[in-house]
This record gives sequence, C-alpha cells and structure tokens, in this order.
Amino acid sequence: MEQKKDIKSMSLQQLTEELVVLGEKKFRAAQIYGWMHQKLVTDFEEMTNISKNTRKMLREQFELVSLKKIDCKISAIDGTRKYLFGLSDGHVIESVLMKYNHGNSVCISSQVGCRMGCRFCASTLDGLSRNLRPSEMLDQIYQIQKDIQERVSNVVVMGSGEPLDNYDNLLQFIHLLTDANGLSISQRNVTVSTCGLVPQMHRLADEKLQITLALSLHASNNDVRKTLMPIANRYLLSEVLEACDYYFEQTGRRMTFEYSLVKGVNDGQQQADELAELIGNRNCHINLIPVNPIKERNFVQTDAKNVNNFKKLLEKKRINVTIRREMGRDIDGACGQLRKRYMDQLKEEHSDGGVCADRCGEEASN
Ligand code: SAH
Repeated sequence: MEQKKDIKSMSLQQLTEELVVLGEKKFRAAQIYGWMHQKLVTDFEEMTNISKNTRKMLREQFELVSLKKIDCKISAIDGTRKYLFGLSDGHVIESVLMKYNHGNSVCISSQVGCRMGCRFCASTLDGLSRNLRPSEMLDQIYQIQKDIQERVSNVVVMGSGEPLDNYDNLLQFIHLLTDANGLSISQRNVTVSTCGLVPQMHRLADEKLQITLALSLHASNNDVRKTLMPIANRYLLSEVLEACDYYFEQTGRRMTFEYSLVKGVNDGQQQADELAELIGNRNCHINLIPVNPIKERNFVQTDAKNVNNFKKLLEKKRINVTIRREMGRDIDGACGQLRKRYMDQLKEEHSDGGVCADRCGEEASN
C-alpha cells in the first residue's frame, strides 16, 4: 500500500499546492496549517471549521503524525522533564524539557539512535535505526508545549542523533518551527549541535540562518579526539574549525563549543592550555559539561573542583566559558539514557515472555 503523505512535514506553500490539486480552496490550506502548527491538534476531527467531507478526504489522503507519550519523568531537583515518545512504527525516542528563568527550552532528538559512535554517548550504543521526519521533530515540541500548557521559547537539537546526518529533514523542521504561521520560535532561539560533519556545516552556513551552531569538540588535539569520537578519523580539527569560522563569517552567529570533561582523558592543565591555544581569539563560547557516566563505558566524571580549575585556566586566556548546569541528574539526564534503559527493560521483559512494546506503551500512558 502506498504510504499516505506526511501533512505535518509540509510547508504552507507545499500544503496549498497539494490541496489545490485535490480541489480545495487556497485559504483551506492556511486553516489546516494553523490547526496543526498553532493550535497543535492531533486529529483531523479536531479541525472544527473544516467540513466533514474535507476532513474525510484529509484522512484518506494524509497521515497526521502525532507522537504517543509513553512516559514522562519529572526531576525532583530542578523540574526538568524527560519524555519518552512512541512513533507510529513502534520506535521510541526521548526529549527533554528544561525550565530556565529565560523560558522553557526543549531538547529534541533528530534520529532514532545514531551512527556517529561517540564513546561516551548512550544514543549510539545500538547504532542508527532511522532518521526522524520534520513532523516527528516538531511534534516533540508540540506535545511538550501542550503537556505543560506553557510556551516553549527555545529549542536545542541536542538529543539523540546527529542532526547534520539528517540534513534535509532538519532544515525543513527549522523552517516549520520558525515559520510565522506556526509556533514562530525565533531562529536565534534554536541551537543545532553537531559532532562536526564538515561538508554539512558549510552547507548550513550557506543557508544563512540565524540559528546557533554548537560543535562537540571534547578534545584539544586530534589524537585525544579520535579516542572519544570516531568522526575525528574523518575530519581533522583544523578542517572542523575552518568550517566553524566559515559559519561565523556567513551568519555572524557566535559559535558554541561543547567540551565534555572526562577524568584523566581531556581535563588536565595541559589540555586547558592547548584548548585555549586551539580556540585562539575566536568570537565564541565554550560550554564545559562534566561527562555523564553511562554504565556501558567506564568514563569517569571530572570532579567539581577540577571542572572549576579548568574553567579558570580558560578564563585566564580570556575565553568565554560556562559550566553547563547538570539538569535532571536524577532522571537519566544524559542523551539517550532513558531510551536505552526503556529498550533494555523491554528486551528483558520479552525474554521473560512479558508484554510487547505496544502494550507497554499503552499501559504507561494510561
Ligand atoms: N550529535 C550531536 C548532538 C547530540 S549530543 C553532537 O554530537 O553534537 C549533545 C551533546 O551532548 C554533544 O556535545 C555530545 O557529545 C554530548 N554528550 C553525549 N553524551 C554525553 C555524556 N554521557 N556526557 C556528557 N556529554 C554527552
């Protein structure tokens, strides 16, 4: 059977063209688009100013992607919420809501799993299952905004997956998210984090968007970076930083560098000096993240005192640096950990002859 078209991934213009071909008036497209992207309905039946016949036609022609909330864990420490969502094909993804003074920030997944293989990351342990569609990226935000009944003001694409490995869908997602006819989130409030896919970074720079690009650096030289991130075998730091400079030139947006501190691996004084040297006088910002240990690997977190020392060493060299507050530590805060635990649990239940994935989802959301 031919798959129905994914109506939530369409721009207003694409939707208008589709509907005109199906004999509808142009203004109908704007109404339907508003229902999906502003009123955030999850079913065609909720589109009350659309006639019954048109709703029937929509149902027949299109799929309206809507994620199923399987679980939501709320941190007792800081109110961070970690969501598990089910996709229509049975896959499971996770998203995080972080509450800051400046507003609500949602961290979304861009792929089911990941194929980049970063050693400290839980998202990549089982490889990549598939890319997320624009609608599936959007709906993580839509569902969360509906759930908390507050506006989401910031979006970071820093959950599971490598966003630039899903380039076209990512771009369409950003256009839909920041569209004035949708949630209209400012491009400046959107951050995309990459492990450093150089050609795609150039391509993104050429789009001349106003989003922030964050690079997962994690090391001050190629040798250490290779031990943490397989992608470092493909691109040298010099090439990655050149792509960062190009991004800044094209967009005027200051880069963010992420640096996860792993005890005894990349957190020494020598490394801080080397990092300062590497960054030089770039107009940028470094985010230090004490690595969040995962049980499958034996990386150890740098202790708080040394994190502070590392920060001070960089500040001495006039580098803009912050320590990322650990959010939701009590609820599997690190990328992919909640999903991983859920999947492992399912596997165990299966081997006990337990419930199947779909049932489990129903039970959890009831
Ligand atoms: N693929 C993208 C985005 C996903 S992860 C990227 O590589 O940037 C978002 C950030 O969290 C990345 O900097 C990633 O390296 C980091 N990260 C992943 N697992 C982590 C862990 N266990 N502890 C600390 N940082 C982690």
